[in-house]
Amino acid sequence: MSRSGRNLFKRRFVRLKAWFTLGSVGITPRLVVAFASVAALAAAANLIVENGVAVLEKQRTVEKARSEVDSRAIHTLRESVSRARRMVTSAELARVLGLFERATQEHAEADTRSSSLRFANSRASLDQTLTKYQAENPPPSAQNLPPQITAHKKTADALVQATRLRRELLARYSGLLAGMEVGLKDAIDREWKVMGRVVARQPLLDVRAQLVDLRAAFAGAGILYADSASSASIAKAEWALSETLRRHADTLRKSESQAWLKSMNDNLTALISTRAALIRTEARRLTAADRFSRESKRLLESLPVNIEEPALPASAAPVQALSPVTSPPTHPPAEFEKPSGSLVGWMSGVVLVVLLYISFVTIISIVRPVRRMIAATNRLAKGSNARVVANGGIRELDSLAKAFNSMAEQLAVARDAAADSHQRLEAKVEERTRQLQELAEQDPLTGIANRRQLFVALNESLERATASGERVGLFFLDIDNFKTLNDSMGHTYGDRVLVSIARRLETIAAACGFAARLGGDEFTIIHQGSRDTQCIYDFGATIVRAFDAPLQVDEREVIVSVSVGVSVYPDHERDAEALLRAADAALFRAKALGRSQLAVFTSELLADASAKFAIEQKLRRAIQNDEFELFYQPLVNPHTGRVEQVEALIRWRKPDGSHRPPDEFLAVAEESGLIIEISDWVLRTAIRTAAEWHRGRWPDARVAINVSPRQFLDYRFVGRVEELLKQYGLPASCVELELVESALQTGAQTIRTLDQLRAVGVSIALDDFGTGYSSLASLQQLPLSRVKFDRSLVAAIDDSARSASIVRATIALCRSLDLDITAEGVERIEQLAMLLPQSPITVQGFLFARPVSGQELLPLLERMPRRCEELVEQLRGAARASEKRSKRFALVE
Ligand code: C2E
Ligand code: CA
Ligand code: CA
Repeated sequence: MSRSGRNLFKRRFVRLKAWFTLGSVGITPRLVVAFASVAALAAAANLIVENGVAVLEKQRTVEKARSEVDSRAIHTLRESVSRARRMVTSAELARVLGLFERATQEHAEADTRSSSLRFANSRASLDQTLTKYQAENPPPSAQNLPPQITAHKKTADALVQATRLRRELLARYSGLLAGMEVGLKDAIDREWKVMGRVVARQPLLDVRAQLVDLRAAFAGAGILYADSASSASIAKAEWALSETLRRHADTLRKSESQAWLKSMNDNLTALISTRAALIRTEARRLTAADRFSRESKRLLESLPVNIEEPALPASAAPVQALSPVTSPPTHPPAEFEKPSGSLVGWMSGVVLVVLLYISFVTIISIVRPVRRMIAATNRLAKGSNARVVANGGIRELDSLAKAFNSMAEQLAVARDAAADSHQRLEAKVEERTRQLQELAEQDPLTGIANRRQLFVALNESLERATASGERVGLFFLDIDNFKTLNDSMGHTYGDRVLVSIARRLETIAAACGFAARLGGDEFTIIHQGSRDTQCIYDFGATIVRAFDAPLQVDEREVIVSVSVGVSVYPDHERDAEALLRAADAALFRAKALGRSQLAVFTSELLADASAKFAIEQKLRRAIQNDEFELFYQPLVNPHTGRVEQVEALIRWRKPDGSHRPPDEFLAVAEESGLIIEISDWVLRTAIRTAAEWHRGRWPDARVAINVSPRQFLDYRFVGRVEELLKQYGLPASCVELELVESALQTGAQTIRTLDQLRAVGVSIALDDFGTGYSSLASLQQLPLSRVKFDRSLVAAIDDSARSASIVRATIALCRSLDLDITAEGVERIEQLAMLLPQSPITVQGFLFARPVSGQELLPLLERMPRRCEELVEQLRGAARASEKRSKRFALVE
């Protein structure tokens, strides 16, 4: 079946089902139909009752009558029985006589073996009973009885005989008639064959008509008395047949045959004689039957006690006539007459009215609450919270109304709660939307514009500037050493400092543009509405100077400085992104210049930036291709010539075999973050190599490793050092870590890390001492083991008395703090001459050895005492020469 066919079938089924179940019929028509049916049933019942009462009353009357009759009959019977008890045999004889009478009649009619047996039995029992009767009723009372019974038996025999003969004669007559009919039928059939389909000879048809008449007369005949009408009609039919045969004798003889005609005539003659015999026999039978019944009656009457049926009361009809339905009494007793029609009518009317009233009330009691409920549901659906359904009505509907009201109340509460929470939700959504909007536009920490808003505003500024021909300056600011401040003062305080910086920038920018925070300690200011480039640069200087005054954060004064890069539209770049990139490049330049600097963008800065980018890319490949190598430079005790330790210095091996110094790539590595990987490689390689030396030809090997500030500030650093020492089996005492001052800002975290390293057993050296701003106090606060004087400090000690004094004083200070001292960058023997008296001190510089590869180091170590001797000898020689010169000078004077 197709889909549409299935749908049609389904629709029809649903409609049919609804029709059968009265699915769409409302409650009112349902109730009306139901009550109308009840009313109709009541009316029908009323009618039935009306008729039923009469019938029942009749039945009761009859039964009453019957019971009266029965009681009287029983009474009479009782008497008879009591009499019969006395004369049993008389009754027995009467009974046997009755039996004999019935057996005789039955035998006469049927004449079968069983009837013959019963007839013989009844004769025998009649004889026996008679004998018994004679014995109990002596003469003269029963003396006539035996001859009468004998005669009666003879009459019975005659009756049986005559009846049998009559039966035989009747059969014979019928047989003859049938024989004639057969003969005639054959003749007619033959005629049919001869003559074709239509014609038979008229004589034959006449004979057949007579024969049919005769058959009809015979069949319709009852008892054939001599002069009865039926025997006369048979005789007449026989005569008519014989006349017809006679009339057509010639024709029939010719058409059929002489024999045929003769047989027909013979049969007719036999018929006539049989009829005569039948009439005679019938007379005899009737006589015998009459006599037999009279004898029976007389015999019964002659019996001393004749048991009769009890006389019935005149009012009672025979039992057979008392059938309740078929024969109603023609005159029923007056007291059982049916109730009057008008009373029943009235009663029916009242019942119907009551029924209609009940129906009406019931319908109303259901329909009204249901309608109320429907109306309430509609009100509820429209959002009304009022009390919705009135109580009352039938119990179930009243409970339903109460439940409905309770549900409506709960619904109202829920609706109110939902409305309330909806309102709150809306308020919350509004608040969040506002917050999100702010977040989208504002920096969450400082509340000033964020990067996104900066670009929106910058683009608008650029559009306006394009239209008006003005210039737009974009300043990129970075707080100098903010990380140090953050680390030392904690991030929460750092955040407050940032907020304070933002406020100050806002104030500065208010006049000519606006400030935004890009993230971290990076800010921007847009300068707009100026046509003069110098004016913009001057504003940049204003920004830098604005931070000369300390910030007030949490009742503490903080001095911060900013480095600023600036780019100008349309001079440097023409779109927002590019302008920001240009300002960033300028900022980088400003940072390189030192603190509190303003740098203006130049195209070379971009070239530098792209060069840095290229280096960064190459560095990444270098890490992958293992292009780094460590060189080692000895730290020598100039008095003994012994190499105390070596400093590991990184080199970038180029494909041509040359080595690039760290100054060319470490800054880029630091900026890009690649320094983390590179530093780890240095740490591992230096420890591994030192371990090899330590186990090999240099048991006293000691290596100094430069640690980048980023590496040192990583919380995993100490663990990593321990791990590598353990991995390569190098005692911690064989390692010294060199840290520059900027990495060793005094702060709880720094001191903790240093303490941990010292606990591991590693020494710490303060590198490049004399280049930064570190106070001498830090030497005392930090758990250091060595101070390395920077090359710049050592450079002038031989020809600057001031430098020499500083170095000497610092050496004295370090010595007093029990710190080892190393002088870096010793290139000239004069420098050595200045340092040598400051013993104990180690020196590091080209004067002793340049940094060499790992393979070259051990031979260098062996050569070093010799080299030192040479140097000391040179110094002595120089001292002797100087002595001679001064003696000669004195002699001359
Ligand atoms: P630094 O730690 O002060 O290392 C000493 C630098 O001075 C080395 O330069 C060394 O070759 C140079 N030097 C030593 N004696 C003399 C001298 O008599 N005259 C002159 N002019 N220079 C001398 P280098 O190897 O180029 O290293 C430069 C800087 O790079 C180092 O300064 C150090 O700060 C950094 N560096 C080198 N290797 C590493 C490293 O493996 N890790 C880290 N984080 N930094 C490193
Ligand atoms: Ca160093
Ligand atoms: Ca150094």
